[in-house]
Amino acid sequence: CGIVGYIGPREAYPIIIEGLKRLEYRGYDSAGIALFDGTDLKVCKTKGKVVDLENKLPTDITNTGHIGIGHTRWATHGVPNDVNSHPHYSNSGNLVIIHNGIIENYESLKKELINRGFTFKSDTDTEVLVNLIEDVKNKENVKLGKAVQIALNQVVGAYAIAVFDKTQPKEIVIARLGSPLAVGVGKDEFFIASDASPFLEYTKNAIYLEDEEMAIIRLNRDIKIRKIKDDSLVDPYVQTLKL
Ligand code: GLU
Repeated sequence: CGIVGYIGPREAYPIIIEGLKRLEYRGYDSAGIALFDGTDLKVCKTKGKVVDLENKLPTDITNTGHIGIGHTRWATHGVPNDVNSHPHYSNSGNLVIIHNGIIENYESLKKELINRGFTFKSDTDTEVLVNLIEDVKNKENVKLGKAVQIALNQVVGAYAIAVFDKTQPKEIVIARLGSPLAVGVGKDEFFIASDASPFLEYTKNAIYLEDEEMAIIRLNRDIKIRKIKDDSLVDPYVQTLKL
């Protein structure tokens, strides 16, 4: 039910954990985090509270990495347990996703993916989406952003998502339809969150994604926003928050 992400020069871990705590008011049953330390992608997730996640994290995962995503889950598909918690990996282990919302046509998509050789660990609709993105990426031989866009055009439902691909480790792809998603714009850094509260102490400049928009956020570079349906580029509208 809450999304946090970071890409920039700071340690991602404390920003994401503190950010998840700020989003606790939204309600949740599980929490998880994925961090990229420059070589490896590490995922830790648990049923319970953000403090349970902190207690479960191996010590070596806490002090590395400048890119990461974190999630608090309010279960809709699959009971609250460790396996159903987000982030979810794709079958190759290259992609991770966090998702708020519901993929309504996940059963038919899942059947197709199983026919194509995919396997599933969780009962979530979310794990179907990350594997759909992977399948598109391989089939169409496209980069992550394009694969997310093609996949979302096959999806019925509501979502705010953040996706990371360790084979393209300098970017995070986000998208929304029906669930909120904000991007905090700092100096050489971007924050991603369900609302501005996780990043207000770092920046007052924020972009709110509109429904049916996606964005590719690149380390040390820029944010490119597109319409999911027709691929048109959207000029980022950066608001200065007066809070
Ligand atoms: N439908 C997803 C799940 O059950 C996401 C739930 C949420 O919004 O946290 O895992």
